[in-house]
Amino acid sequence: MKFSKKNYLSLLNTLKEKKYRFIMACDWKKYSKEKNNIILRHDIDFDTSYALEMAKIENKKKVKSTYFFLMRDNYYDLYSDKTYSDIIKIKKFGHEIGIHINPESFKKFKNKTNAINQDIKYFQNFYGIKIKSVSYHQPSIYNFKDLQFNIIFNSYDKKVMNKYKYFSDSSMKFRENEFQEFIKLKQNIQLLIHPLWWIVKNSTIKGKLKILFKKKKMELLKTFIGYDKIIKIKNNYN
Ligand SMILES: [Zn+2]
Repeated sequence: MKFSKKNYLSLLNTLKEKKYRFIMACDWKKYSKEKNNIILRHDIDFDTSYALEMAKIENKKKVKSTYFFLMRDNYYDLYSDKTYSDIIKIKKFGHEIGIHINPESFKKFKNKTNAINQDIKYFQNFYGIKIKSVSYHQPSIYNFKDLQFNIIFNSYDKKVMNKYKYFSDSSMKFRENEFQEFIKLKQNIQLLIHPLWWIVKNSTIKGKLKILFKKKKMELLKTFIGYDKIIKIKNNYN
């Protein structure tokens, strides 16, 4: 299957036709004994603009999902004006905001759980949003057993995984046939979708990442206006 906006829309349409209820991650317990529920989850690794675009598409389709943002990430500044504005808009569309945790970023702390909790507190104060859900970055690489949180939804918690069948589009590998078969059963699902793969117009990982890189470069260049003459950057800023 091609990863595109159009196909994302048709995926949402199929789920709606099958009468799936789109629930927020923090409500997983409430619906865990019922059937036909889907936790649609987005881990935001590189860029918040694509997340906002996806949030708009979902809003038009009256679909609710949960967006997880990275703390201490090198790709986007969680506390810049742009990110702030994107996240607040996503929240206003009615989606849940959660925190995406890369344990690698917390390696330097003796008490990792404490450090992560402090960061979550800061985020909550800055954004005025209560965090009820977390998800981990690259769970196949890192071991999270030593991290325990007092939080409602933890994406790879055994209890969540047992109640909601997990599917993902990680590395642009989406077991679509298996997914299409599974949704016929009308069970509970947790589906991880990365906006970058579906929003950026290109058919390969390499192509999509190249477009992302160009976008990031242009955003950085915009902050150099005035200084661009000194270091003689020739570029258009559109
Ligand atoms: Zn991630």
